[in-house]
Amino acid sequence: MPNKIPMINLSREYELLKEEIDAAIRGCLQHQRWIMGPEVTAFEEEAGDYLGTARAIACSSGTDALILALRALAITRHGKEFFDKDDLILTTPMSFTATAEAIVQAGATPVFCDVDPETFLLDPEAAARFLKEDERAARAVGIVPVHLYGYPCAMDRFAGLAAKFGLFLVEDTAQAFGGSFGKEKLGTIGDAGAFSFFPSKNLGCYGDGGMVVARDEDVAAMIRILLRHGGESKTNASHIGYNARLDTLQAAILRVKLKHIDTFNHRRREIASVYNTALRGCSGLILPPGPEQNPGAVFHQYTARVTGHRRDTVRERLAQAGIKTMIYYPVLLSRMDAFQARSIITNLCEAETLHTEILSLPAPLELPNQPAWQTVVIQEMMKILS
Ligand SMILES: *Cc1c(COP(=O)(O)O)cnc(C)c1O
Repeated sequence: MPNKIPMINLSREYELLKEEIDAAIRGCLQHQRWIMGPEVTAFEEEAGDYLGTARAIACSSGTDALILALRALAITRHGKEFFDKDDLILTTPMSFTATAEAIVQAGATPVFCDVDPETFLLDPEAAARFLKEDERAARAVGIVPVHLYGYPCAMDRFAGLAAKFGLFLVEDTAQAFGGSFGKEKLGTIGDAGAFSFFPSKNLGCYGDGGMVVARDEDVAAMIRILLRHGGESKTNASHIGYNARLDTLQAAILRVKLKHIDTFNHRRREIASVYNTALRGCSGLILPPGPEQNPGAVFHQYTARVTGHRRDTVRERLAQAGIKTMIYYPVLLSRMDAFQARSIITNLCEAETLHTEILSLPAPLELPNQPAWQTVVIQEMMKILS
């Protein structure tokens, strides 16, 4: 029976922080303020300080964070409760379902633009091409770049496009807490940034959780209203809202994990660096820009490309050796039934190829009794690809 190397190891991460997390949970058991308890505000302040923003609003999930950000922009910038079908929002076809889902839930229509095969991310050139050349571009209202795998999008380019074409920018930062572009933390560069604290994210809680960061006070205030049923008072709604609060218990857990986020993100960068050094020169493998070329990346996933139609074979062989890998994500958003009927699909030739080549390798932060897990993965990869 081969060794089992998982993608992540949440039990081990818990063991490392056990005392602090148990104490935080006990604190909640003692005060019993489960909804909007003191830990929620404290976490918002601490996460805001960490990111360098005064406007961090905790909420129920990353999906809700995206919806809240988009709805607040519809209300404050466009004077309407929801966007409508004619309002177009540019995004990448390579993301988790929630990115496109949130755009549609906010009332708008996603426009899928192609990715850059070197960065795996929404290509600013492809977005620019749609905005300059497509006659429907006059209806564009915003761009949602996704910092997939914790790799930072070219925010200078997107900010330039947003300014030039009068668009808002909402950063999907669900996979990139603590990442940066230049001196600025991801999520704080656009009009709003949406974070997810789903358990497997690089900052994760023990259930669903999320956060929105807003650049302007009116947008932040609207998000706060929307997440509590759309009213300044719970009993008199002025907008169509949501029940989208973060649980006190999750906030208590996140306060502990936030203190260690730099250590964990640093470890992720180390793992990426080791992979990039060891696997350089492996034929049939194209590596992502490593931490040296990509200092703002937090490597939520270490994702490389296996070329020559060999990705699935390589994955199978690794599985046989007890090594777990993942494909994030196997189906392009532009190919999902739900969005085919409600999107604009531009030329996606890079994404169409790339999504058949991507492979995310294991990065368990610590694995008891198996400190050499990464050597095992690397040796197996080299054997298969040689
Ligand atoms: C996880 C994720 C989301 C959604 O977050 P949830 O907390 O699961 O709702 C959105 N976008 C991306 C890119 C994600 O990875």
